Amino acid sequence: MQLIIVGAGPAGLTVAEGVRRLGVDADVTMLSAEPYPPYAPPAMADYFSTGREATIFWKGKDVCDRLSIDYRSGTRVARLEPDKRTVVLDSGDRLRYDHLVIASGSSLYAPIGGTDLAGVFNFKSLTAATSLITSVKTGEVQSAVIVGAGFIGLEVALLLADLGVEVTIVEMADSVMPAILDPETASIVLDLLLERGAKVRLETKAAGFAGSGRVEQLDLESGQAIAADAYVAATGVKPSIDYLAGSGIDADWGVRVDDHLMTNLPDVVAVGDVAETPDRFTGERYVHAIFPNAVAQGSVAAERLAGFDSVYEGAESMNSLKHLGVPVMAVGARTGSEERRWRGGDTLRKVFIEDGRIVGFRFAGDTSGAGVLRSLMLRKADVSAFADRLAEPSFGIADVAFRVLAS
Ligand SMILES: Cc1cc2nc3c(=O)[nH]c(=O)nc-3n(C[C@H](O)[C@H](O)[C@H](O)COP(=O)(O)OP(=O)(O)OC[C@H]3O[C@@H](n4cnc5c(N)ncnc54)[C@H](O)[C@@H]3O)c2cc1C
Repeated sequence: MQLIIVGAGPAGLTVAEGVRRLGVDADVTMLSAEPYPPYAPPAMADYFSTGREATIFWKGKDVCDRLSIDYRSGTRVARLEPDKRTVVLDSGDRLRYDHLVIASGSSLYAPIGGTDLAGVFNFKSLTAATSLITSVKTGEVQSAVIVGAGFIGLEVALLLADLGVEVTIVEMADSVMPAILDPETASIVLDLLLERGAKVRLETKAAGFAGSGRVEQLDLESGQAIAADAYVAATGVKPSIDYLAGSGIDADWGVRVDDHLMTNLPDVVAVGDVAETPDRFTGERYVHAIFPNAVAQGSVAAERLAGFDSVYEGAESMNSLKHLGVPVMAVGARTGSEERRWRGGDTLRKVFIEDGRIVGFRFAGDTSGAGVLRSLMLRKADVSAFADRLAEPSFGIADVAFRVLAS
């Protein structure tokens, strides 16, 4: 069997590894548009601040040799010809497949103008991040403006601040990480950012990067402009599906897949940031672009290729911010009809409840017990009997076990 995997991110590599582990008899070719061994994007900031390779090249730089995979880096797929079971490369070469895995991940979503101007950077891939950090390390960049205070925007802001760059973040919402955090937790994150030296301009809408050929300023909708040595777009991510146009694949924001991660094309699965899957908790279809979802989907796809009838349980909504110096965790919904909160010193813990069931929680400062809460949430357990304890740092498995034994 000839298996082609488009993409060498966490999703694609997990498929390749799983196929080998499960003894699938396949020649495996894995393609990546980027010129690097397979890497883990969440480790990029750490890599640029410490130079440590072990976490970014998470399976080892030689992983493809060890797995006997024909890995072609710097090889972009231009289009798909499903009727011929063929992928067409940028070079014009064609590769035939029996099974195809679409694991092309996500790229910068740029709803503002000028992101293609020279001098506008992003932090969505190792290629893009390397180009930004190379300019910083050559001393060209003393100041940077970052558009977007989502988790990638904050991560790059903290990294640049640590590298001695004067950072300004521009965010159109009235709080940082508006899609993920409730306003109260967001205000803690904002304070931490300010303490680390970043400037943050909330309720400030960027109109676009401007310049002739090369970016010269960030124009704001207010009519003002901000100038800096470097400009970073951190305006969101979108599935990388351009090359699938005309293939007949069913895609909306991402590639639509069924419970087995199959697309509508024969023998073609989609996994990771590129795939639109149901949410494990709400059932709603969406792309939740996080590492654990990519890896879980890669495992299911490998099992399917090995002939098992595996079903994907659904994506989870879960984020944690690692670089603030204080742990911050966001799981599930960021509001509920009831809220339990605990505040002490720098710690804030909030649990959101609907109809006696946990629908989400936000922790800053102390994330202990998060595993138990997540498990109760996913099981849709009735927590009414111990709801008042849920947000306390000492809440744990013992509370749940006691209630179950007592009932
Ligand atoms: C800065 C940053 C920090 C992050 N931090 C976290 C975190 O803390 N926790 C967390 O859970 N998640 C985090 N994420 C998200 C996480 O990295 C992604 O969810 C995960 O990488 C998705 O894996 P993937 O394999 O689907 O896609 P990707 O990692 O995006 O990999 C896609 C692959 O496809 C290749 N490709 C794309 N188009 C083509 C083409 N046409 N032809 C050939 N190859 C192609 C790319 O070169 C790449 O190899 C972070 C992401 C970034 C950018």
